[in-house]
Amino acid sequence: MAAWTRSLDVMGLRIERVPTLQDNYTYVIACDETNDAAVIDAPEFEPVVKRVAGMGVNVSKILSTHHHWDHSAANPELAAHFGARVYGHVSDADRIPGFTDALEEGDTLTVGKQTSRILFIPAHTRAHIAYVFDDAQAVFCGDTMFAAGCGRLFEGTPEMMFTALHEKLGPLPDTMRIFCGHEYTESNLVFAAHVEPDNAAIAEMQARVATIRANKAADWHDATPEEMTVPSTLADERATNPFLRATNAEELGRVRGMKDNF
Ligand code: ZN
Ligand code: FE
Repeated sequence: MAAWTRSLDVMGLRIERVPTLQDNYTYVIACDETNDAAVIDAPEFEPVVKRVAGMGVNVSKILSTHHHWDHSAANPELAAHFGARVYGHVSDADRIPGFTDALEEGDTLTVGKQTSRILFIPAHTRAHIAYVFDDAQAVFCGDTMFAAGCGRLFEGTPEMMFTALHEKLGPLPDTMRIFCGHEYTESNLVFAAHVEPDNAAIAEMQARVATIRANKAADWHDATPEEMTVPSTLADERATNPFLRATNAEELGRVRGMKDNF
């Protein structure tokens, strides 16, 4: 299995993981060359503003992967503070707080000299998107794919999640780093081991994640990079993620149903 890429500055895109709420990840990403920056999935104002000040970058864009409050509640306050635009899928215009700019599949969005492609991946919600930075090998996929898991099907079907995981995210390279919306890895791996008790990659990942999560801060807001299991890589997910390992939509639906009641 490929080792986790722990470097968070690849090809000139700097990525900072800001722990928010109980287990959410907010990301601040910045172009090394221009210092232009974007905030991804922000439910809280304070921790983001502090981190951005520490980085000394200029935030011009607030990006949401989907409308859920734990990924978007701070958009209006942050947009006002930074004088930034707020982006999301066109069909979420009336649900994403502070929404100003519509995105669709195939659109590109720049952060300084860095370019991302928009993937439309509805399933967790009907308007969920991902931001793929091909050069920097980073995808921000919200609550669609988690390390060793996937989001609940609130507004979509197993078929839609299968398409999102296998046809949209699946073709990305093994080295693509998966920046997901929550630190759920440890409990996801318990379920993955239940689904595939004989999968050595899952057992190995469980051991690695247990070590990483052994010394947790009492409050997630105080979490240091040492206790963060995100990002994983797509190679890791191919080896351990029961939803990416499902070979058809029916199987994915069955495994999702098991997880819902696990
Ligand atoms: Zn969500
Ligand atoms: Fe969420």
